[in-house]
Amino acid sequence: MQLAKEPSFRQSVDIMFNRAASLVELPPGLKEKIRVCNATYTVRFGVRLRGELHTFTGYRSVHSEHMEPVKGGIRYATSVNQDEVEALAALMTYKCALVETPFGGSKGGLCIDPTEWDAHELELITRRFAYELTKRDLINPAQNVPAPDMGTGEREMAWIADQYRRMNTTDINASACVTGKPTHAGGIQGRTEATGRGVQYALQEFFRHPEDVRTAGLDGGLGGKRVIVQGLGNVGYHAALFLSEEDGALITGVIERDGAVVNESGLNIAALRLHMAETGGVRGFEGATFVERGSEVLEYSCDILIPAALEGVINMQNAEHIRAPLIIEAANGPVTAGADDILRKRGCVIVPDMFANAGGVTVSYFEWVKNLSHIRFGRMQRRQEEARHMLIVDELDRLSKSHDLEWTLGKDFRTKYLRGAGELELVRSGLDDTMRGAYQAMREVWHTRQDVPDLRTAAYLVSIERVALSYQSKGL
Ligand code: GLU
Repeated sequence: MQLAKEPSFRQSVDIMFNRAASLVELPPGLKEKIRVCNATYTVRFGVRLRGELHTFTGYRSVHSEHMEPVKGGIRYATSVNQDEVEALAALMTYKCALVETPFGGSKGGLCIDPTEWDAHELELITRRFAYELTKRDLINPAQNVPAPDMGTGEREMAWIADQYRRMNTTDINASACVTGKPTHAGGIQGRTEATGRGVQYALQEFFRHPEDVRTAGLDGGLGGKRVIVQGLGNVGYHAALFLSEEDGALITGVIERDGAVVNESGLNIAALRLHMAETGGVRGFEGATFVERGSEVLEYSCDILIPAALEGVINMQNAEHIRAPLIIEAANGPVTAGADDILRKRGCVIVPDMFANAGGVTVSYFEWVKNLSHIRFGRMQRRQEEARHMLIVDELDRLSKSHDLEWTLGKDFRTKYLRGAGELELVRSGLDDTMRGAYQAMREVWHTRQDVPDLRTAAYLVSIERVALSYQSKGL
C-alpha cells in the first residue's frame, strides 16, 4: 500500500484548523484571516566567536494580532525553520484563546545547537538576536513578549530582558518584555515547572470525568496508570515527576535521544534525571531495561502516552502501531494530521497540545501581570495589615480592567491573596483553575455537538470562535 505523503508541520496545523473551521458559522474571509500567519521576520546576524565571524539565522513569526502583545517562546535547535516557527506561532494563537490569556500568537527560533557553545558565547549570540528583534519591536512588553521553549530557559530570558532594558532605559515596564525569567530577575515562582504542572492538572481534570475516561477505554483514576513519556526535558520531566510522585501513576517507559528505559513497576524519575545529568543519556540506568531503538517504545502497551519533545513523532508511519488508548500532547504538534486521523478512527483519545501544554503560557501571563503591576505577588511582610492586601487586589483588578483583560487569575486567587498565600500557591491555584476551565469549555463542545468528533476539533472550535469575536469587536 502506498502511504499518503505526510504534510509539513504548518500544513498539519492548517488541516486541523480547516476541519474545525468548517464547523463554525463565520464569513470565509474571517476564517482565512484567522488561519494565516501575519508576518515572519528572518534575520541573519554575525557574531565574532573563537576568532571567527559566525552567521546565525533566526526567526520571529507573528501569527495573529487580534490581541496584543503577541506571545510565544524562542526555540534554539538546529532543526528550526520558517515552516516550524509559523506552525508554532499559529498554535500559540489558539492556545492563548483556549486558556483565555489575553495574547495573540507568536513564536521565535534560532538555528543553533546550544550544546556547541559555552555560556559566554551563548550570551553574546542571544544578546545579538535580542538586539535584532528589539530593534523591530519584536520584543516589547506591549507588543511581543517571548518566553522559553526547547533549548532555552531562564538564563536566556534574563539576557534578553537585560538587552531590552539597555536599549530602552526609560521603559518602566521593561521587565515585562519577556517571561520565564529567573525569580531574582523579575520572574515568578513556578514558571519553570509550569508546563509539566499544567500537563498534570490537565490529566487530573480529564480523570474527573468518568465518561471521558471510559471513552478512552480506561477506568478509575490516575493512580496505578502505566505512563510512557517521550522526552525527559523540562516539560516531560516535570510532568513525569508530578504524576508519579503526587498521583501514583507508574512511569513505565522513558524515551530519550540515546534510547529508552522501561520498567513495568515504574521508574524513579528524579533518579533518572540525575543519571541523565551525569551521563548525558538514559543508557545504563539501574533497575530498568535499556532499549536501543527508543522510538519503538512509543508502540509499547501503556495507559497513557505523553509525547513531550518534538513535533511529528507520531506520524503516518507508526500511528497504526500505537497501543496507548490515551495520548496527551505535552509537546507542540507531536501527532501529525495524518496520524491524528488514523488514531481517531481507532478510538484513541488525544488531549490536544493547545490545551495540554498551555501551563507555560498561563504562568507567563501571571508573570507579565506581576511585572506590569510592579507589585510583588503573595505574602506580605508580617506587620503589613489587611488594608494593604486590599489595595493590591484592587490595584490588580484595576490593571486588568485598564488593559481590557479578563480576570483570569482564577476564582480562588482573590481569597487566597487576602489570606496572604505565597506566590507559588497563587500560581498553582491560578494554573489549576485555568486548566479546569479550559477543559470544561472544550469538553462541552465535544459532548454537545454531534459533528465534533474529538477533543482537538473541540479545542479549535472554542479558540476560533474566541479569536473571531475579538476580531469582530475590533471592527474587522
Ligand atoms: N514556549 C511555550 C509554549 O509553547 C511557552 C510560551 C510562553 O510562555 O509565552 O507554549
